[in-house]
Amino acid sequence: NGALFAVYGASGCGRSVMPLARAQLQAQGIAPARLVFVDDRPESAVVNGQRLLRYEEFLDAPATTRHAVLAIAQSGIRERLADRCRVGGVQAWTLIAANAVVMDDVTLGEGAILSPFVTLGSNVRIGRHFHANLYCYVEHDSVIGDFVTFAPGVKCNGNVVVEDHAYVGAGAVIKHGRPGQPMTIGRGAVVGMGAVVTRDVPAGVTVAGNPARPLVKGRSC
Ligand code: UDP
Repeated sequence: NGALFAVYGASGCGRSVMPLARAQLQAQGIAPARLVFVDDRPESAVVNGQRLLRYEEFLDAPATTRHAVLAIAQSGIRERLADRCRVGGVQAWTLIAANAVVMDDVTLGEGAILSPFVTLGSNVRIGRHFHANLYCYVEHDSVIGDFVTFAPGVKCNGNVVVEDHAYVGAGAVIKHGRPGQPMTIGRGAVVGMGAVVTRDVPAGVTVAGNPARPLVKGRSC
């Protein structure tokens, strides 16, 4: 018995997150047997040496408390599963890689994943269930909403606001804003990989390129 921990999602994202979860529990002296994958479409009973349970099995397994990190890139799914977990009494679990750097006065919402080589600069505010993949940084005074996803290598400079459910692709660069006049990535916007964002991105819009521009149906301009 005791606490039971889960990485929810056993596909690409989940398999990259599992080693972080294992290391974090090991540092706390918690046995690896208390850590499982949870997936609603299980393809095998064991993934990379870790047991895989359906969500219902996770709820039924003997445990004093249950904790899950939502390791699925699509933010809408994360939000749905966060609600499901809350209803099931499963606590949001935050994972921070041992070599992640978190500077002064950073607020990190529940359920965040800070992958290896991530840096959060000073006075940064981060909402719930943020994914910061390998080698991302978020510089000083930036504000990140809920269910935001950064693919590997995102460079988010100072005084940037990223609203809820935005997705920023691998290697994208977001230009810094100014105090009181932040560079803003709107709710649910998508920034393509390698994009260089030099202007605000409206909610729900997809941008790509250098400088980043909205994608027009059928062609990029
Ligand atoms: N998944 C789930 N419950 C859901 C939605 C998705 O368990 O309600 C699982 C799905 O079965 C898959 C994983 O989450 O194993 C998502 O994997 P995908 O390859 O789509 O994306 P990624 O790993 O990159 O987030």
